[in-house]
Amino acid sequence: MDRLSIAFITPEAVPFAKTGGLADISGVLPSILSKLGQDVRVLLPLYRQIREQFGQELERQAEFTVKVGDKSFRGDLLFLQQRKKNKDAEFYFIEQDEFFDRDGLYGEPSTGLDFPDNAERFIFFCRAAVQCLEKNGWKTDIIHLNDWQTALVAPFVRVDLSDNSPLRKSKVVFTIHNLAYQGQFDAKEYDKLGLPESYFAATGPFEFWGKVNFMKAALHFSDHITTVSPTYAREIISSSEYGMGLEGVLAARANCLSGILNGVDYKIWSPKVDKLIPFRYFPANLSGKKKNKLELVRKAGFPIRVDSPLFGMISRLDNQKGLDLIMEIFDRMMSLDIQFILLGTGDAKYMQFFRQKQQEYPDKFKAYLEFDNQMAHLIEAGADIFLMPSRYEPSGLNQMYSLKYGTVPLVRKTGGLADSVEDFDPDKKTGTGLVFEKYDADLLLATVMRGVGLYSRKKLWYKLMKAGMSQDFSWEKAATRYQALYRQLVDENGFGNAGKFV
Ligand code: ADP
Repeated sequence: MDRLSIAFITPEAVPFAKTGGLADISGVLPSILSKLGQDVRVLLPLYRQIREQFGQELERQAEFTVKVGDKSFRGDLLFLQQRKKNKDAEFYFIEQDEFFDRDGLYGEPSTGLDFPDNAERFIFFCRAAVQCLEKNGWKTDIIHLNDWQTALVAPFVRVDLSDNSPLRKSKVVFTIHNLAYQGQFDAKEYDKLGLPESYFAATGPFEFWGKVNFMKAALHFSDHITTVSPTYAREIISSSEYGMGLEGVLAARANCLSGILNGVDYKIWSPKVDKLIPFRYFPANLSGKKKNKLELVRKAGFPIRVDSPLFGMISRLDNQKGLDLIMEIFDRMMSLDIQFILLGTGDAKYMQFFRQKQQEYPDKFKAYLEFDNQMAHLIEAGADIFLMPSRYEPSGLNQMYSLKYGTVPLVRKTGGLADSVEDFDPDKKTGTGLVFEKYDADLLLATVMRGVGLYSRKKLWYKLMKAGMSQDFSWEKAATRYQALYRQLVDENGFGNAGKFV
């Protein structure tokens, strides 16, 4: 079969720049697709942190000029040497210092506020990406876009390119990693796109309650839309709660929408090989897990209580993650014989709450209010129960990491959590975690208590841990599904459903 040429366009990828799960996915999916025999080029912005870490390995390939509104911006295309030698996916970076040479990817790290010129930054990035693909003459069967920052590539390819541009024949796949971030901007930003006015008319592809919505346009102009779990794909067309105002647009394209659950990079996230944890372990010998727990408890400054379950949580501190439920049950949770370590950054109201609670319960609760990858690995390895009571969860990675680390996930049945964790039934001895359905604080507390009870029944607990550790959510499976989708799109004639108003 012919090799597919894929341009994977993303705003972040491990190990270059990361704010969330999208970076994990972009760091691994292109590599696996390459190993499956495809020709993959990844394009992302050259943020300051990438230049600082990888500057030596970057080679300048081409320069270009891009118009954003009536201003012209010069940019450069840089190529990462290191990867080429490894026959891996090739990584390219778009350099434009006015836009990307900053601390923070999308906002000011100190305040958490979005950069005021995010619309311009990503109009530039998307125009530059299309220009690089076209001017370099790269054969591109599939253009795979990820989240709102890359969304404009779809209209630029479909509307702007001349009919005889080879890029017009490419199939555009748009992946929604989180519908909560749509790239909505003030109406005045529309002019900077350089697209026909009619697209911003009422019910046009860009118009959303008087604002410009980048993601909505991608949903309209892409040939296929994916999201990162089958359950989330169903949820987002079911109600405004999940669809966040785009449920109608998504429902109209339901025949081009599918869900592919994210995978785990077990080279990084497996207790057998994890280089960031002090003690490695595997199902047949869990002594390393106990040692990691001691290490974690010691670091937190807690008294050692090996028989109390240690709860862990690693999360963006965002409404999405069920933190209001945790706040509601916090004191009742602390009255149980447990310890709890949280790692996360985000909304000030949550940071403040957890800072305060740490002072109230120094022996039982520790909050690391920062981004710390090494600590994330140690919590996965050392905790007994992992908390993830999300309001919604497109895919979620931490619950899958937790399964592999024998850290029983306690999750709400939504999105990717529903697709990866099965509630434990102590009678039938089936299931891999602790699952509750309704978004309700009392139900969460009841599930926490169920976990504490099960933890004291050691034999059952080990059974549950080991059931989780034997689960396989490797990326190879997910990558094979993406590959099949690409193949199907390339084999179809024409532009799929793209280009029609929805
Ligand atoms: P989301 O993408 O919604 O943030 P996921 O569970 O899909 O949630 O992915 C989150 C990723 O970010 C995981 O790899 C997790 O370990 C990591 N992460 C989140 N917060 C932190 C933090 N404060 N420190 C280190 N890693 C974090």
